[in-house]
Amino acid sequence: MTELLYHTDSYIQTFTATVTAVDEAAHAVLLDRTAFYPGGGGQPYDLGTLRFAGQTAALERARKGPEGVWHVLAASASLPAQGASVEGQLDWTRRYQLMRTHTAMHILCGVVFRDYGAQVTGGDMEPLQGRMDFEFETMTKELVGVIESAVNREVAAAHPVRVQILPREAAFQIPDLIRTKINLLPPGIEEVRTVELVGLDLQADGGTHVHNTSEVGKMRVVDYKSKGKINKRIYVELGA
Ligand SMILES: [Zn+2]
Repeated sequence: MTELLYHTDSYIQTFTATVTAVDEAAHAVLLDRTAFYPGGGGQPYDLGTLRFAGQTAALERARKGPEGVWHVLAASASLPAQGASVEGQLDWTRRYQLMRTHTAMHILCGVVFRDYGAQVTGGDMEPLQGRMDFEFETMTKELVGVIESAVNREVAAAHPVRVQILPREAAFQIPDLIRTKINLLPPGIEEVRTVELVGLDLQADGGTHVHNTSEVGKMRVVDYKSKGKINKRIYVELGA
């Protein structure tokens, strides 16, 4: 398996690794360790470059497979051989924007649950914008501004963001995690990674986050849509 460097340190921008397998057909390499996020939980995969043997290859995408994280290189690049050493460099502008956006989404979840008891059912994000779906029957147009103000108060409150990797049994003892559908985790998973906005929100989550909610910056709730009587979708944007 690939060691997931971003699980314990989301601020790593460059790293060295060894190629453990090559997939010619997919034009991809498997690495023993990586800082590239392969996508998941609504957060898109990272971009960047891999350097090896005097060439710099653009990363077209990172993708998680059963064996670990595959790094798909641009068609114009040659592939490094199995056993080769490579140096990865993240497109940090994009990744840091995604970290801020992902933490912003958790602030939104935390506020909407705390103030209205509404649970999140899904979400998706791009750098500096995202949308989240809630079971939120009482959501109205008038609440858009109220939620926006509440979210920005939590940004300004500068909550530390704490990441932990817990044994499955320990995670299942935490009431806040049970509400976020931790019980959907496949039985084979032995450890649960948790992301806590201390004092606001706690979720099982594999994504990359900033260290403090103040890094998110001002958030705007730009739109909301009714997806039926119960289900509502809220759209947010961050400043650059
Ligand atoms: Zn998340």
